[in-house]
Amino acid sequence: MKPYKEILLRPGKEASLQRFHPWVFSGAIARKPEDLTEGETVRVLASDGSFLGVGHFQIGSITVRILSFLDEPVDTVFYERSLANAYKMRKELNLVRADNNIFRLVHGEGDFLPGLIIDIYGDTAVIQAHSVGIHRDLGFVTGALKQMLPDGSVKHIFYKSEGTLPYKAGIFPEDSYLSGGSDVNEIAVENGLRFRIDWLKGQKTGFFVDQRENRALLEHYARNRHVLNMFCYTGGFSVYALRGGATTVESVDSSSKAVSITDQNVTLNFGDDSRHHSSPEDAFKFLKQLSRGEKDLIILDPPAFAKHRGAINNALQGYKKLNLLALEKIAPGGFLFTFSCSQVISGEQFRLAVFSAAAISGRKVRILHQLTQPADHPINIYHPEGEYLKGLVLQIE
Ligand code: SAH
Repeated sequence: MKPYKEILLRPGKEASLQRFHPWVFSGAIARKPEDLTEGETVRVLASDGSFLGVGHFQIGSITVRILSFLDEPVDTVFYERSLANAYKMRKELNLVRADNNIFRLVHGEGDFLPGLIIDIYGDTAVIQAHSVGIHRDLGFVTGALKQMLPDGSVKHIFYKSEGTLPYKAGIFPEDSYLSGGSDVNEIAVENGLRFRIDWLKGQKTGFFVDQRENRALLEHYARNRHVLNMFCYTGGFSVYALRGGATTVESVDSSSKAVSITDQNVTLNFGDDSRHHSSPEDAFKFLKQLSRGEKDLIILDPPAFAKHRGAINNALQGYKKLNLLALEKIAPGGFLFTFSCSQVISGEQFRLAVFSAAAISGRKVRILHQLTQPADHPINIYHPEGEYLKGLVLQIE
């Protein structure tokens, strides 16, 4: 194998890598070869020539994403070891069970594999690349995945990166099966609840695995309540609320496709359950029309309102407006589960937006829980950017 090309940093720019932060920004670079192609693996050196790490070169403000701080090849052996470590941790977290076969196996930087997401749905693994480097290493990744699960528990590997990779890099990653393949979206289980998962056409990898623990918490609040699951997508919160003994559950999403998946998932678990209703509606419009006191448990889990820093102010206004509508309408003694998955918005900023909404509503509001992403979406302590999901459970007098 040819040795990796080398990128040399400017003096003083090695400190963050020495602290294991996995990104090298363009401003840190003193010299790099002219002929680098996006996604190739490079060695990164400090200004004195000493080795710092190996990673994927990319075009943009983040120039290298480090995969290893050891001077080693990034090949099948590397991915086999990394995936085996990731799988071991999910087993230790007790996520691999007969009644739970939905989990995130690899969470990018949180598993020291920048750019790589792998979600497991029963016997299907869905791989999503967020960097050209991972796309180029796909052969290694799939090889390692097959090696890791020799018992055949993963039969199908689906690659889903059409929506996440920059076409400008001259690559056209078609969403397709890399191994196995089936036209039927199989049923997978989360905490004993069954879900039909559409990795072929669904958002992200087909399911929001990151809300598992928050859905389980909601189940304990649902008994005898009138629940409104706003932004329901595949109906995760609705299904948990029904199992938790909710009197009624209403699922709302602006996408009629999402609403129909929710209906299917409810039927899959509870048959024709008259407690459940669903409507394809805009959240803001729906909440405005809702009568006061009709719901005593509301879930607000909107898509990220801010996708980049420039959008933060508008997003905070959006969260404030949305939470105000819910706080005004919720029955006395009710609960609000409210979330933000915008990575660029901090927990503190989100809490402040909800605080402002509470203050305008004039109601007495208490914070009962402060929620985050689950342990199969770990945050590398040296990469705080990996923290994105935040939630509050409020009680409203
Ligand atoms: N709570 C879900 C995930 C929500 S994803 C779960 O646990 O699986 C966000 C959802 O919001 C998407 O399904 C999207 O269709 C929906 N959405 C986006 N804008 C909306 C709007 N203005 N009103 C209602 N739903 C909206």
